[in-house]
Amino acid sequence: MLHKVYDSLLALAYPQVCQICENSVENLADGVACRSCWKKTRIFSGTETLCGKCGRFLQPKPSNFKTFCHLCDEHFYDSACAVGIYENALSASVLNLKREPFIARHLQNLFVSRFENSDFQDISLLVPVPLSKRRFFERGFNQASVLADILAKQTGIKLDEQSLIRKIHTPMHRAAMDNKAREMSVKNAFEVKRPRFIEGKKILLVDDVFTSGATVSNCAKTLKKCGADKIYVFTLAKTL
Ligand SMILES: [Zn+2]
Ligand SMILES: [Zn+2]
Repeated sequence: MLHKVYDSLLALAYPQVCQICENSVENLADGVACRSCWKKTRIFSGTETLCGKCGRFLQPKPSNFKTFCHLCDEHFYDSACAVGIYENALSASVLNLKREPFIARHLQNLFVSRFENSDFQDISLLVPVPLSKRRFFERGFNQASVLADILAKQTGIKLDEQSLIRKIHTPMHRAAMDNKAREMSVKNAFEVKRPRFIEGKKILLVDDVFTSGATVSNCAKTLKKCGADKIYVFTLAKTL
């Protein structure tokens, strides 16, 4: 309650402009988007039909049986889920997270509650999708680590930022890249530095956005080669 009052007062003192519609953001907890833009953002509630493996949005209504998109059949992770669709307030928040290592409270709450209501079981390690050294120095932080750290603090699950590294610097994936180009750009890009920390573990890979799944699939492939038991993927947003 106090948080809410404080956030509203701060928003009054330092008005923020919504990065989507340019109206003012009335509550600091909403971050870079106003309440009305958040309302237009599809956050998964658990009643829609999502691919049983990659979590891709298939239809707004529930389905009586497990449905798969089959675009993810070859992917190496076991299952993936996201908070919602990469649009409006979620896409603005993801873009902002590449600029500053901060996630507003509303989105933090959505992120943690989606995790708590997910099918992920017995996770023993949180592994953020790593950046290359070059990208890390350009940006100053890894946005996936910011997210994994929130979960680590909330759940007490161990955070491991050292075991998986990105040994090859790959260009940023652009929206125009097709799945084949994305796949080629991350092929063999990852390496496990400390296999004994990985062996037999059920790992939650954390990233900001799931696009084609090529990046997380290659991380999963590398981790499984080193003896990881299960790889689950959790992201803020998922592209349509
Ligand atoms: Zn707005
Ligand atoms: Zn799928």
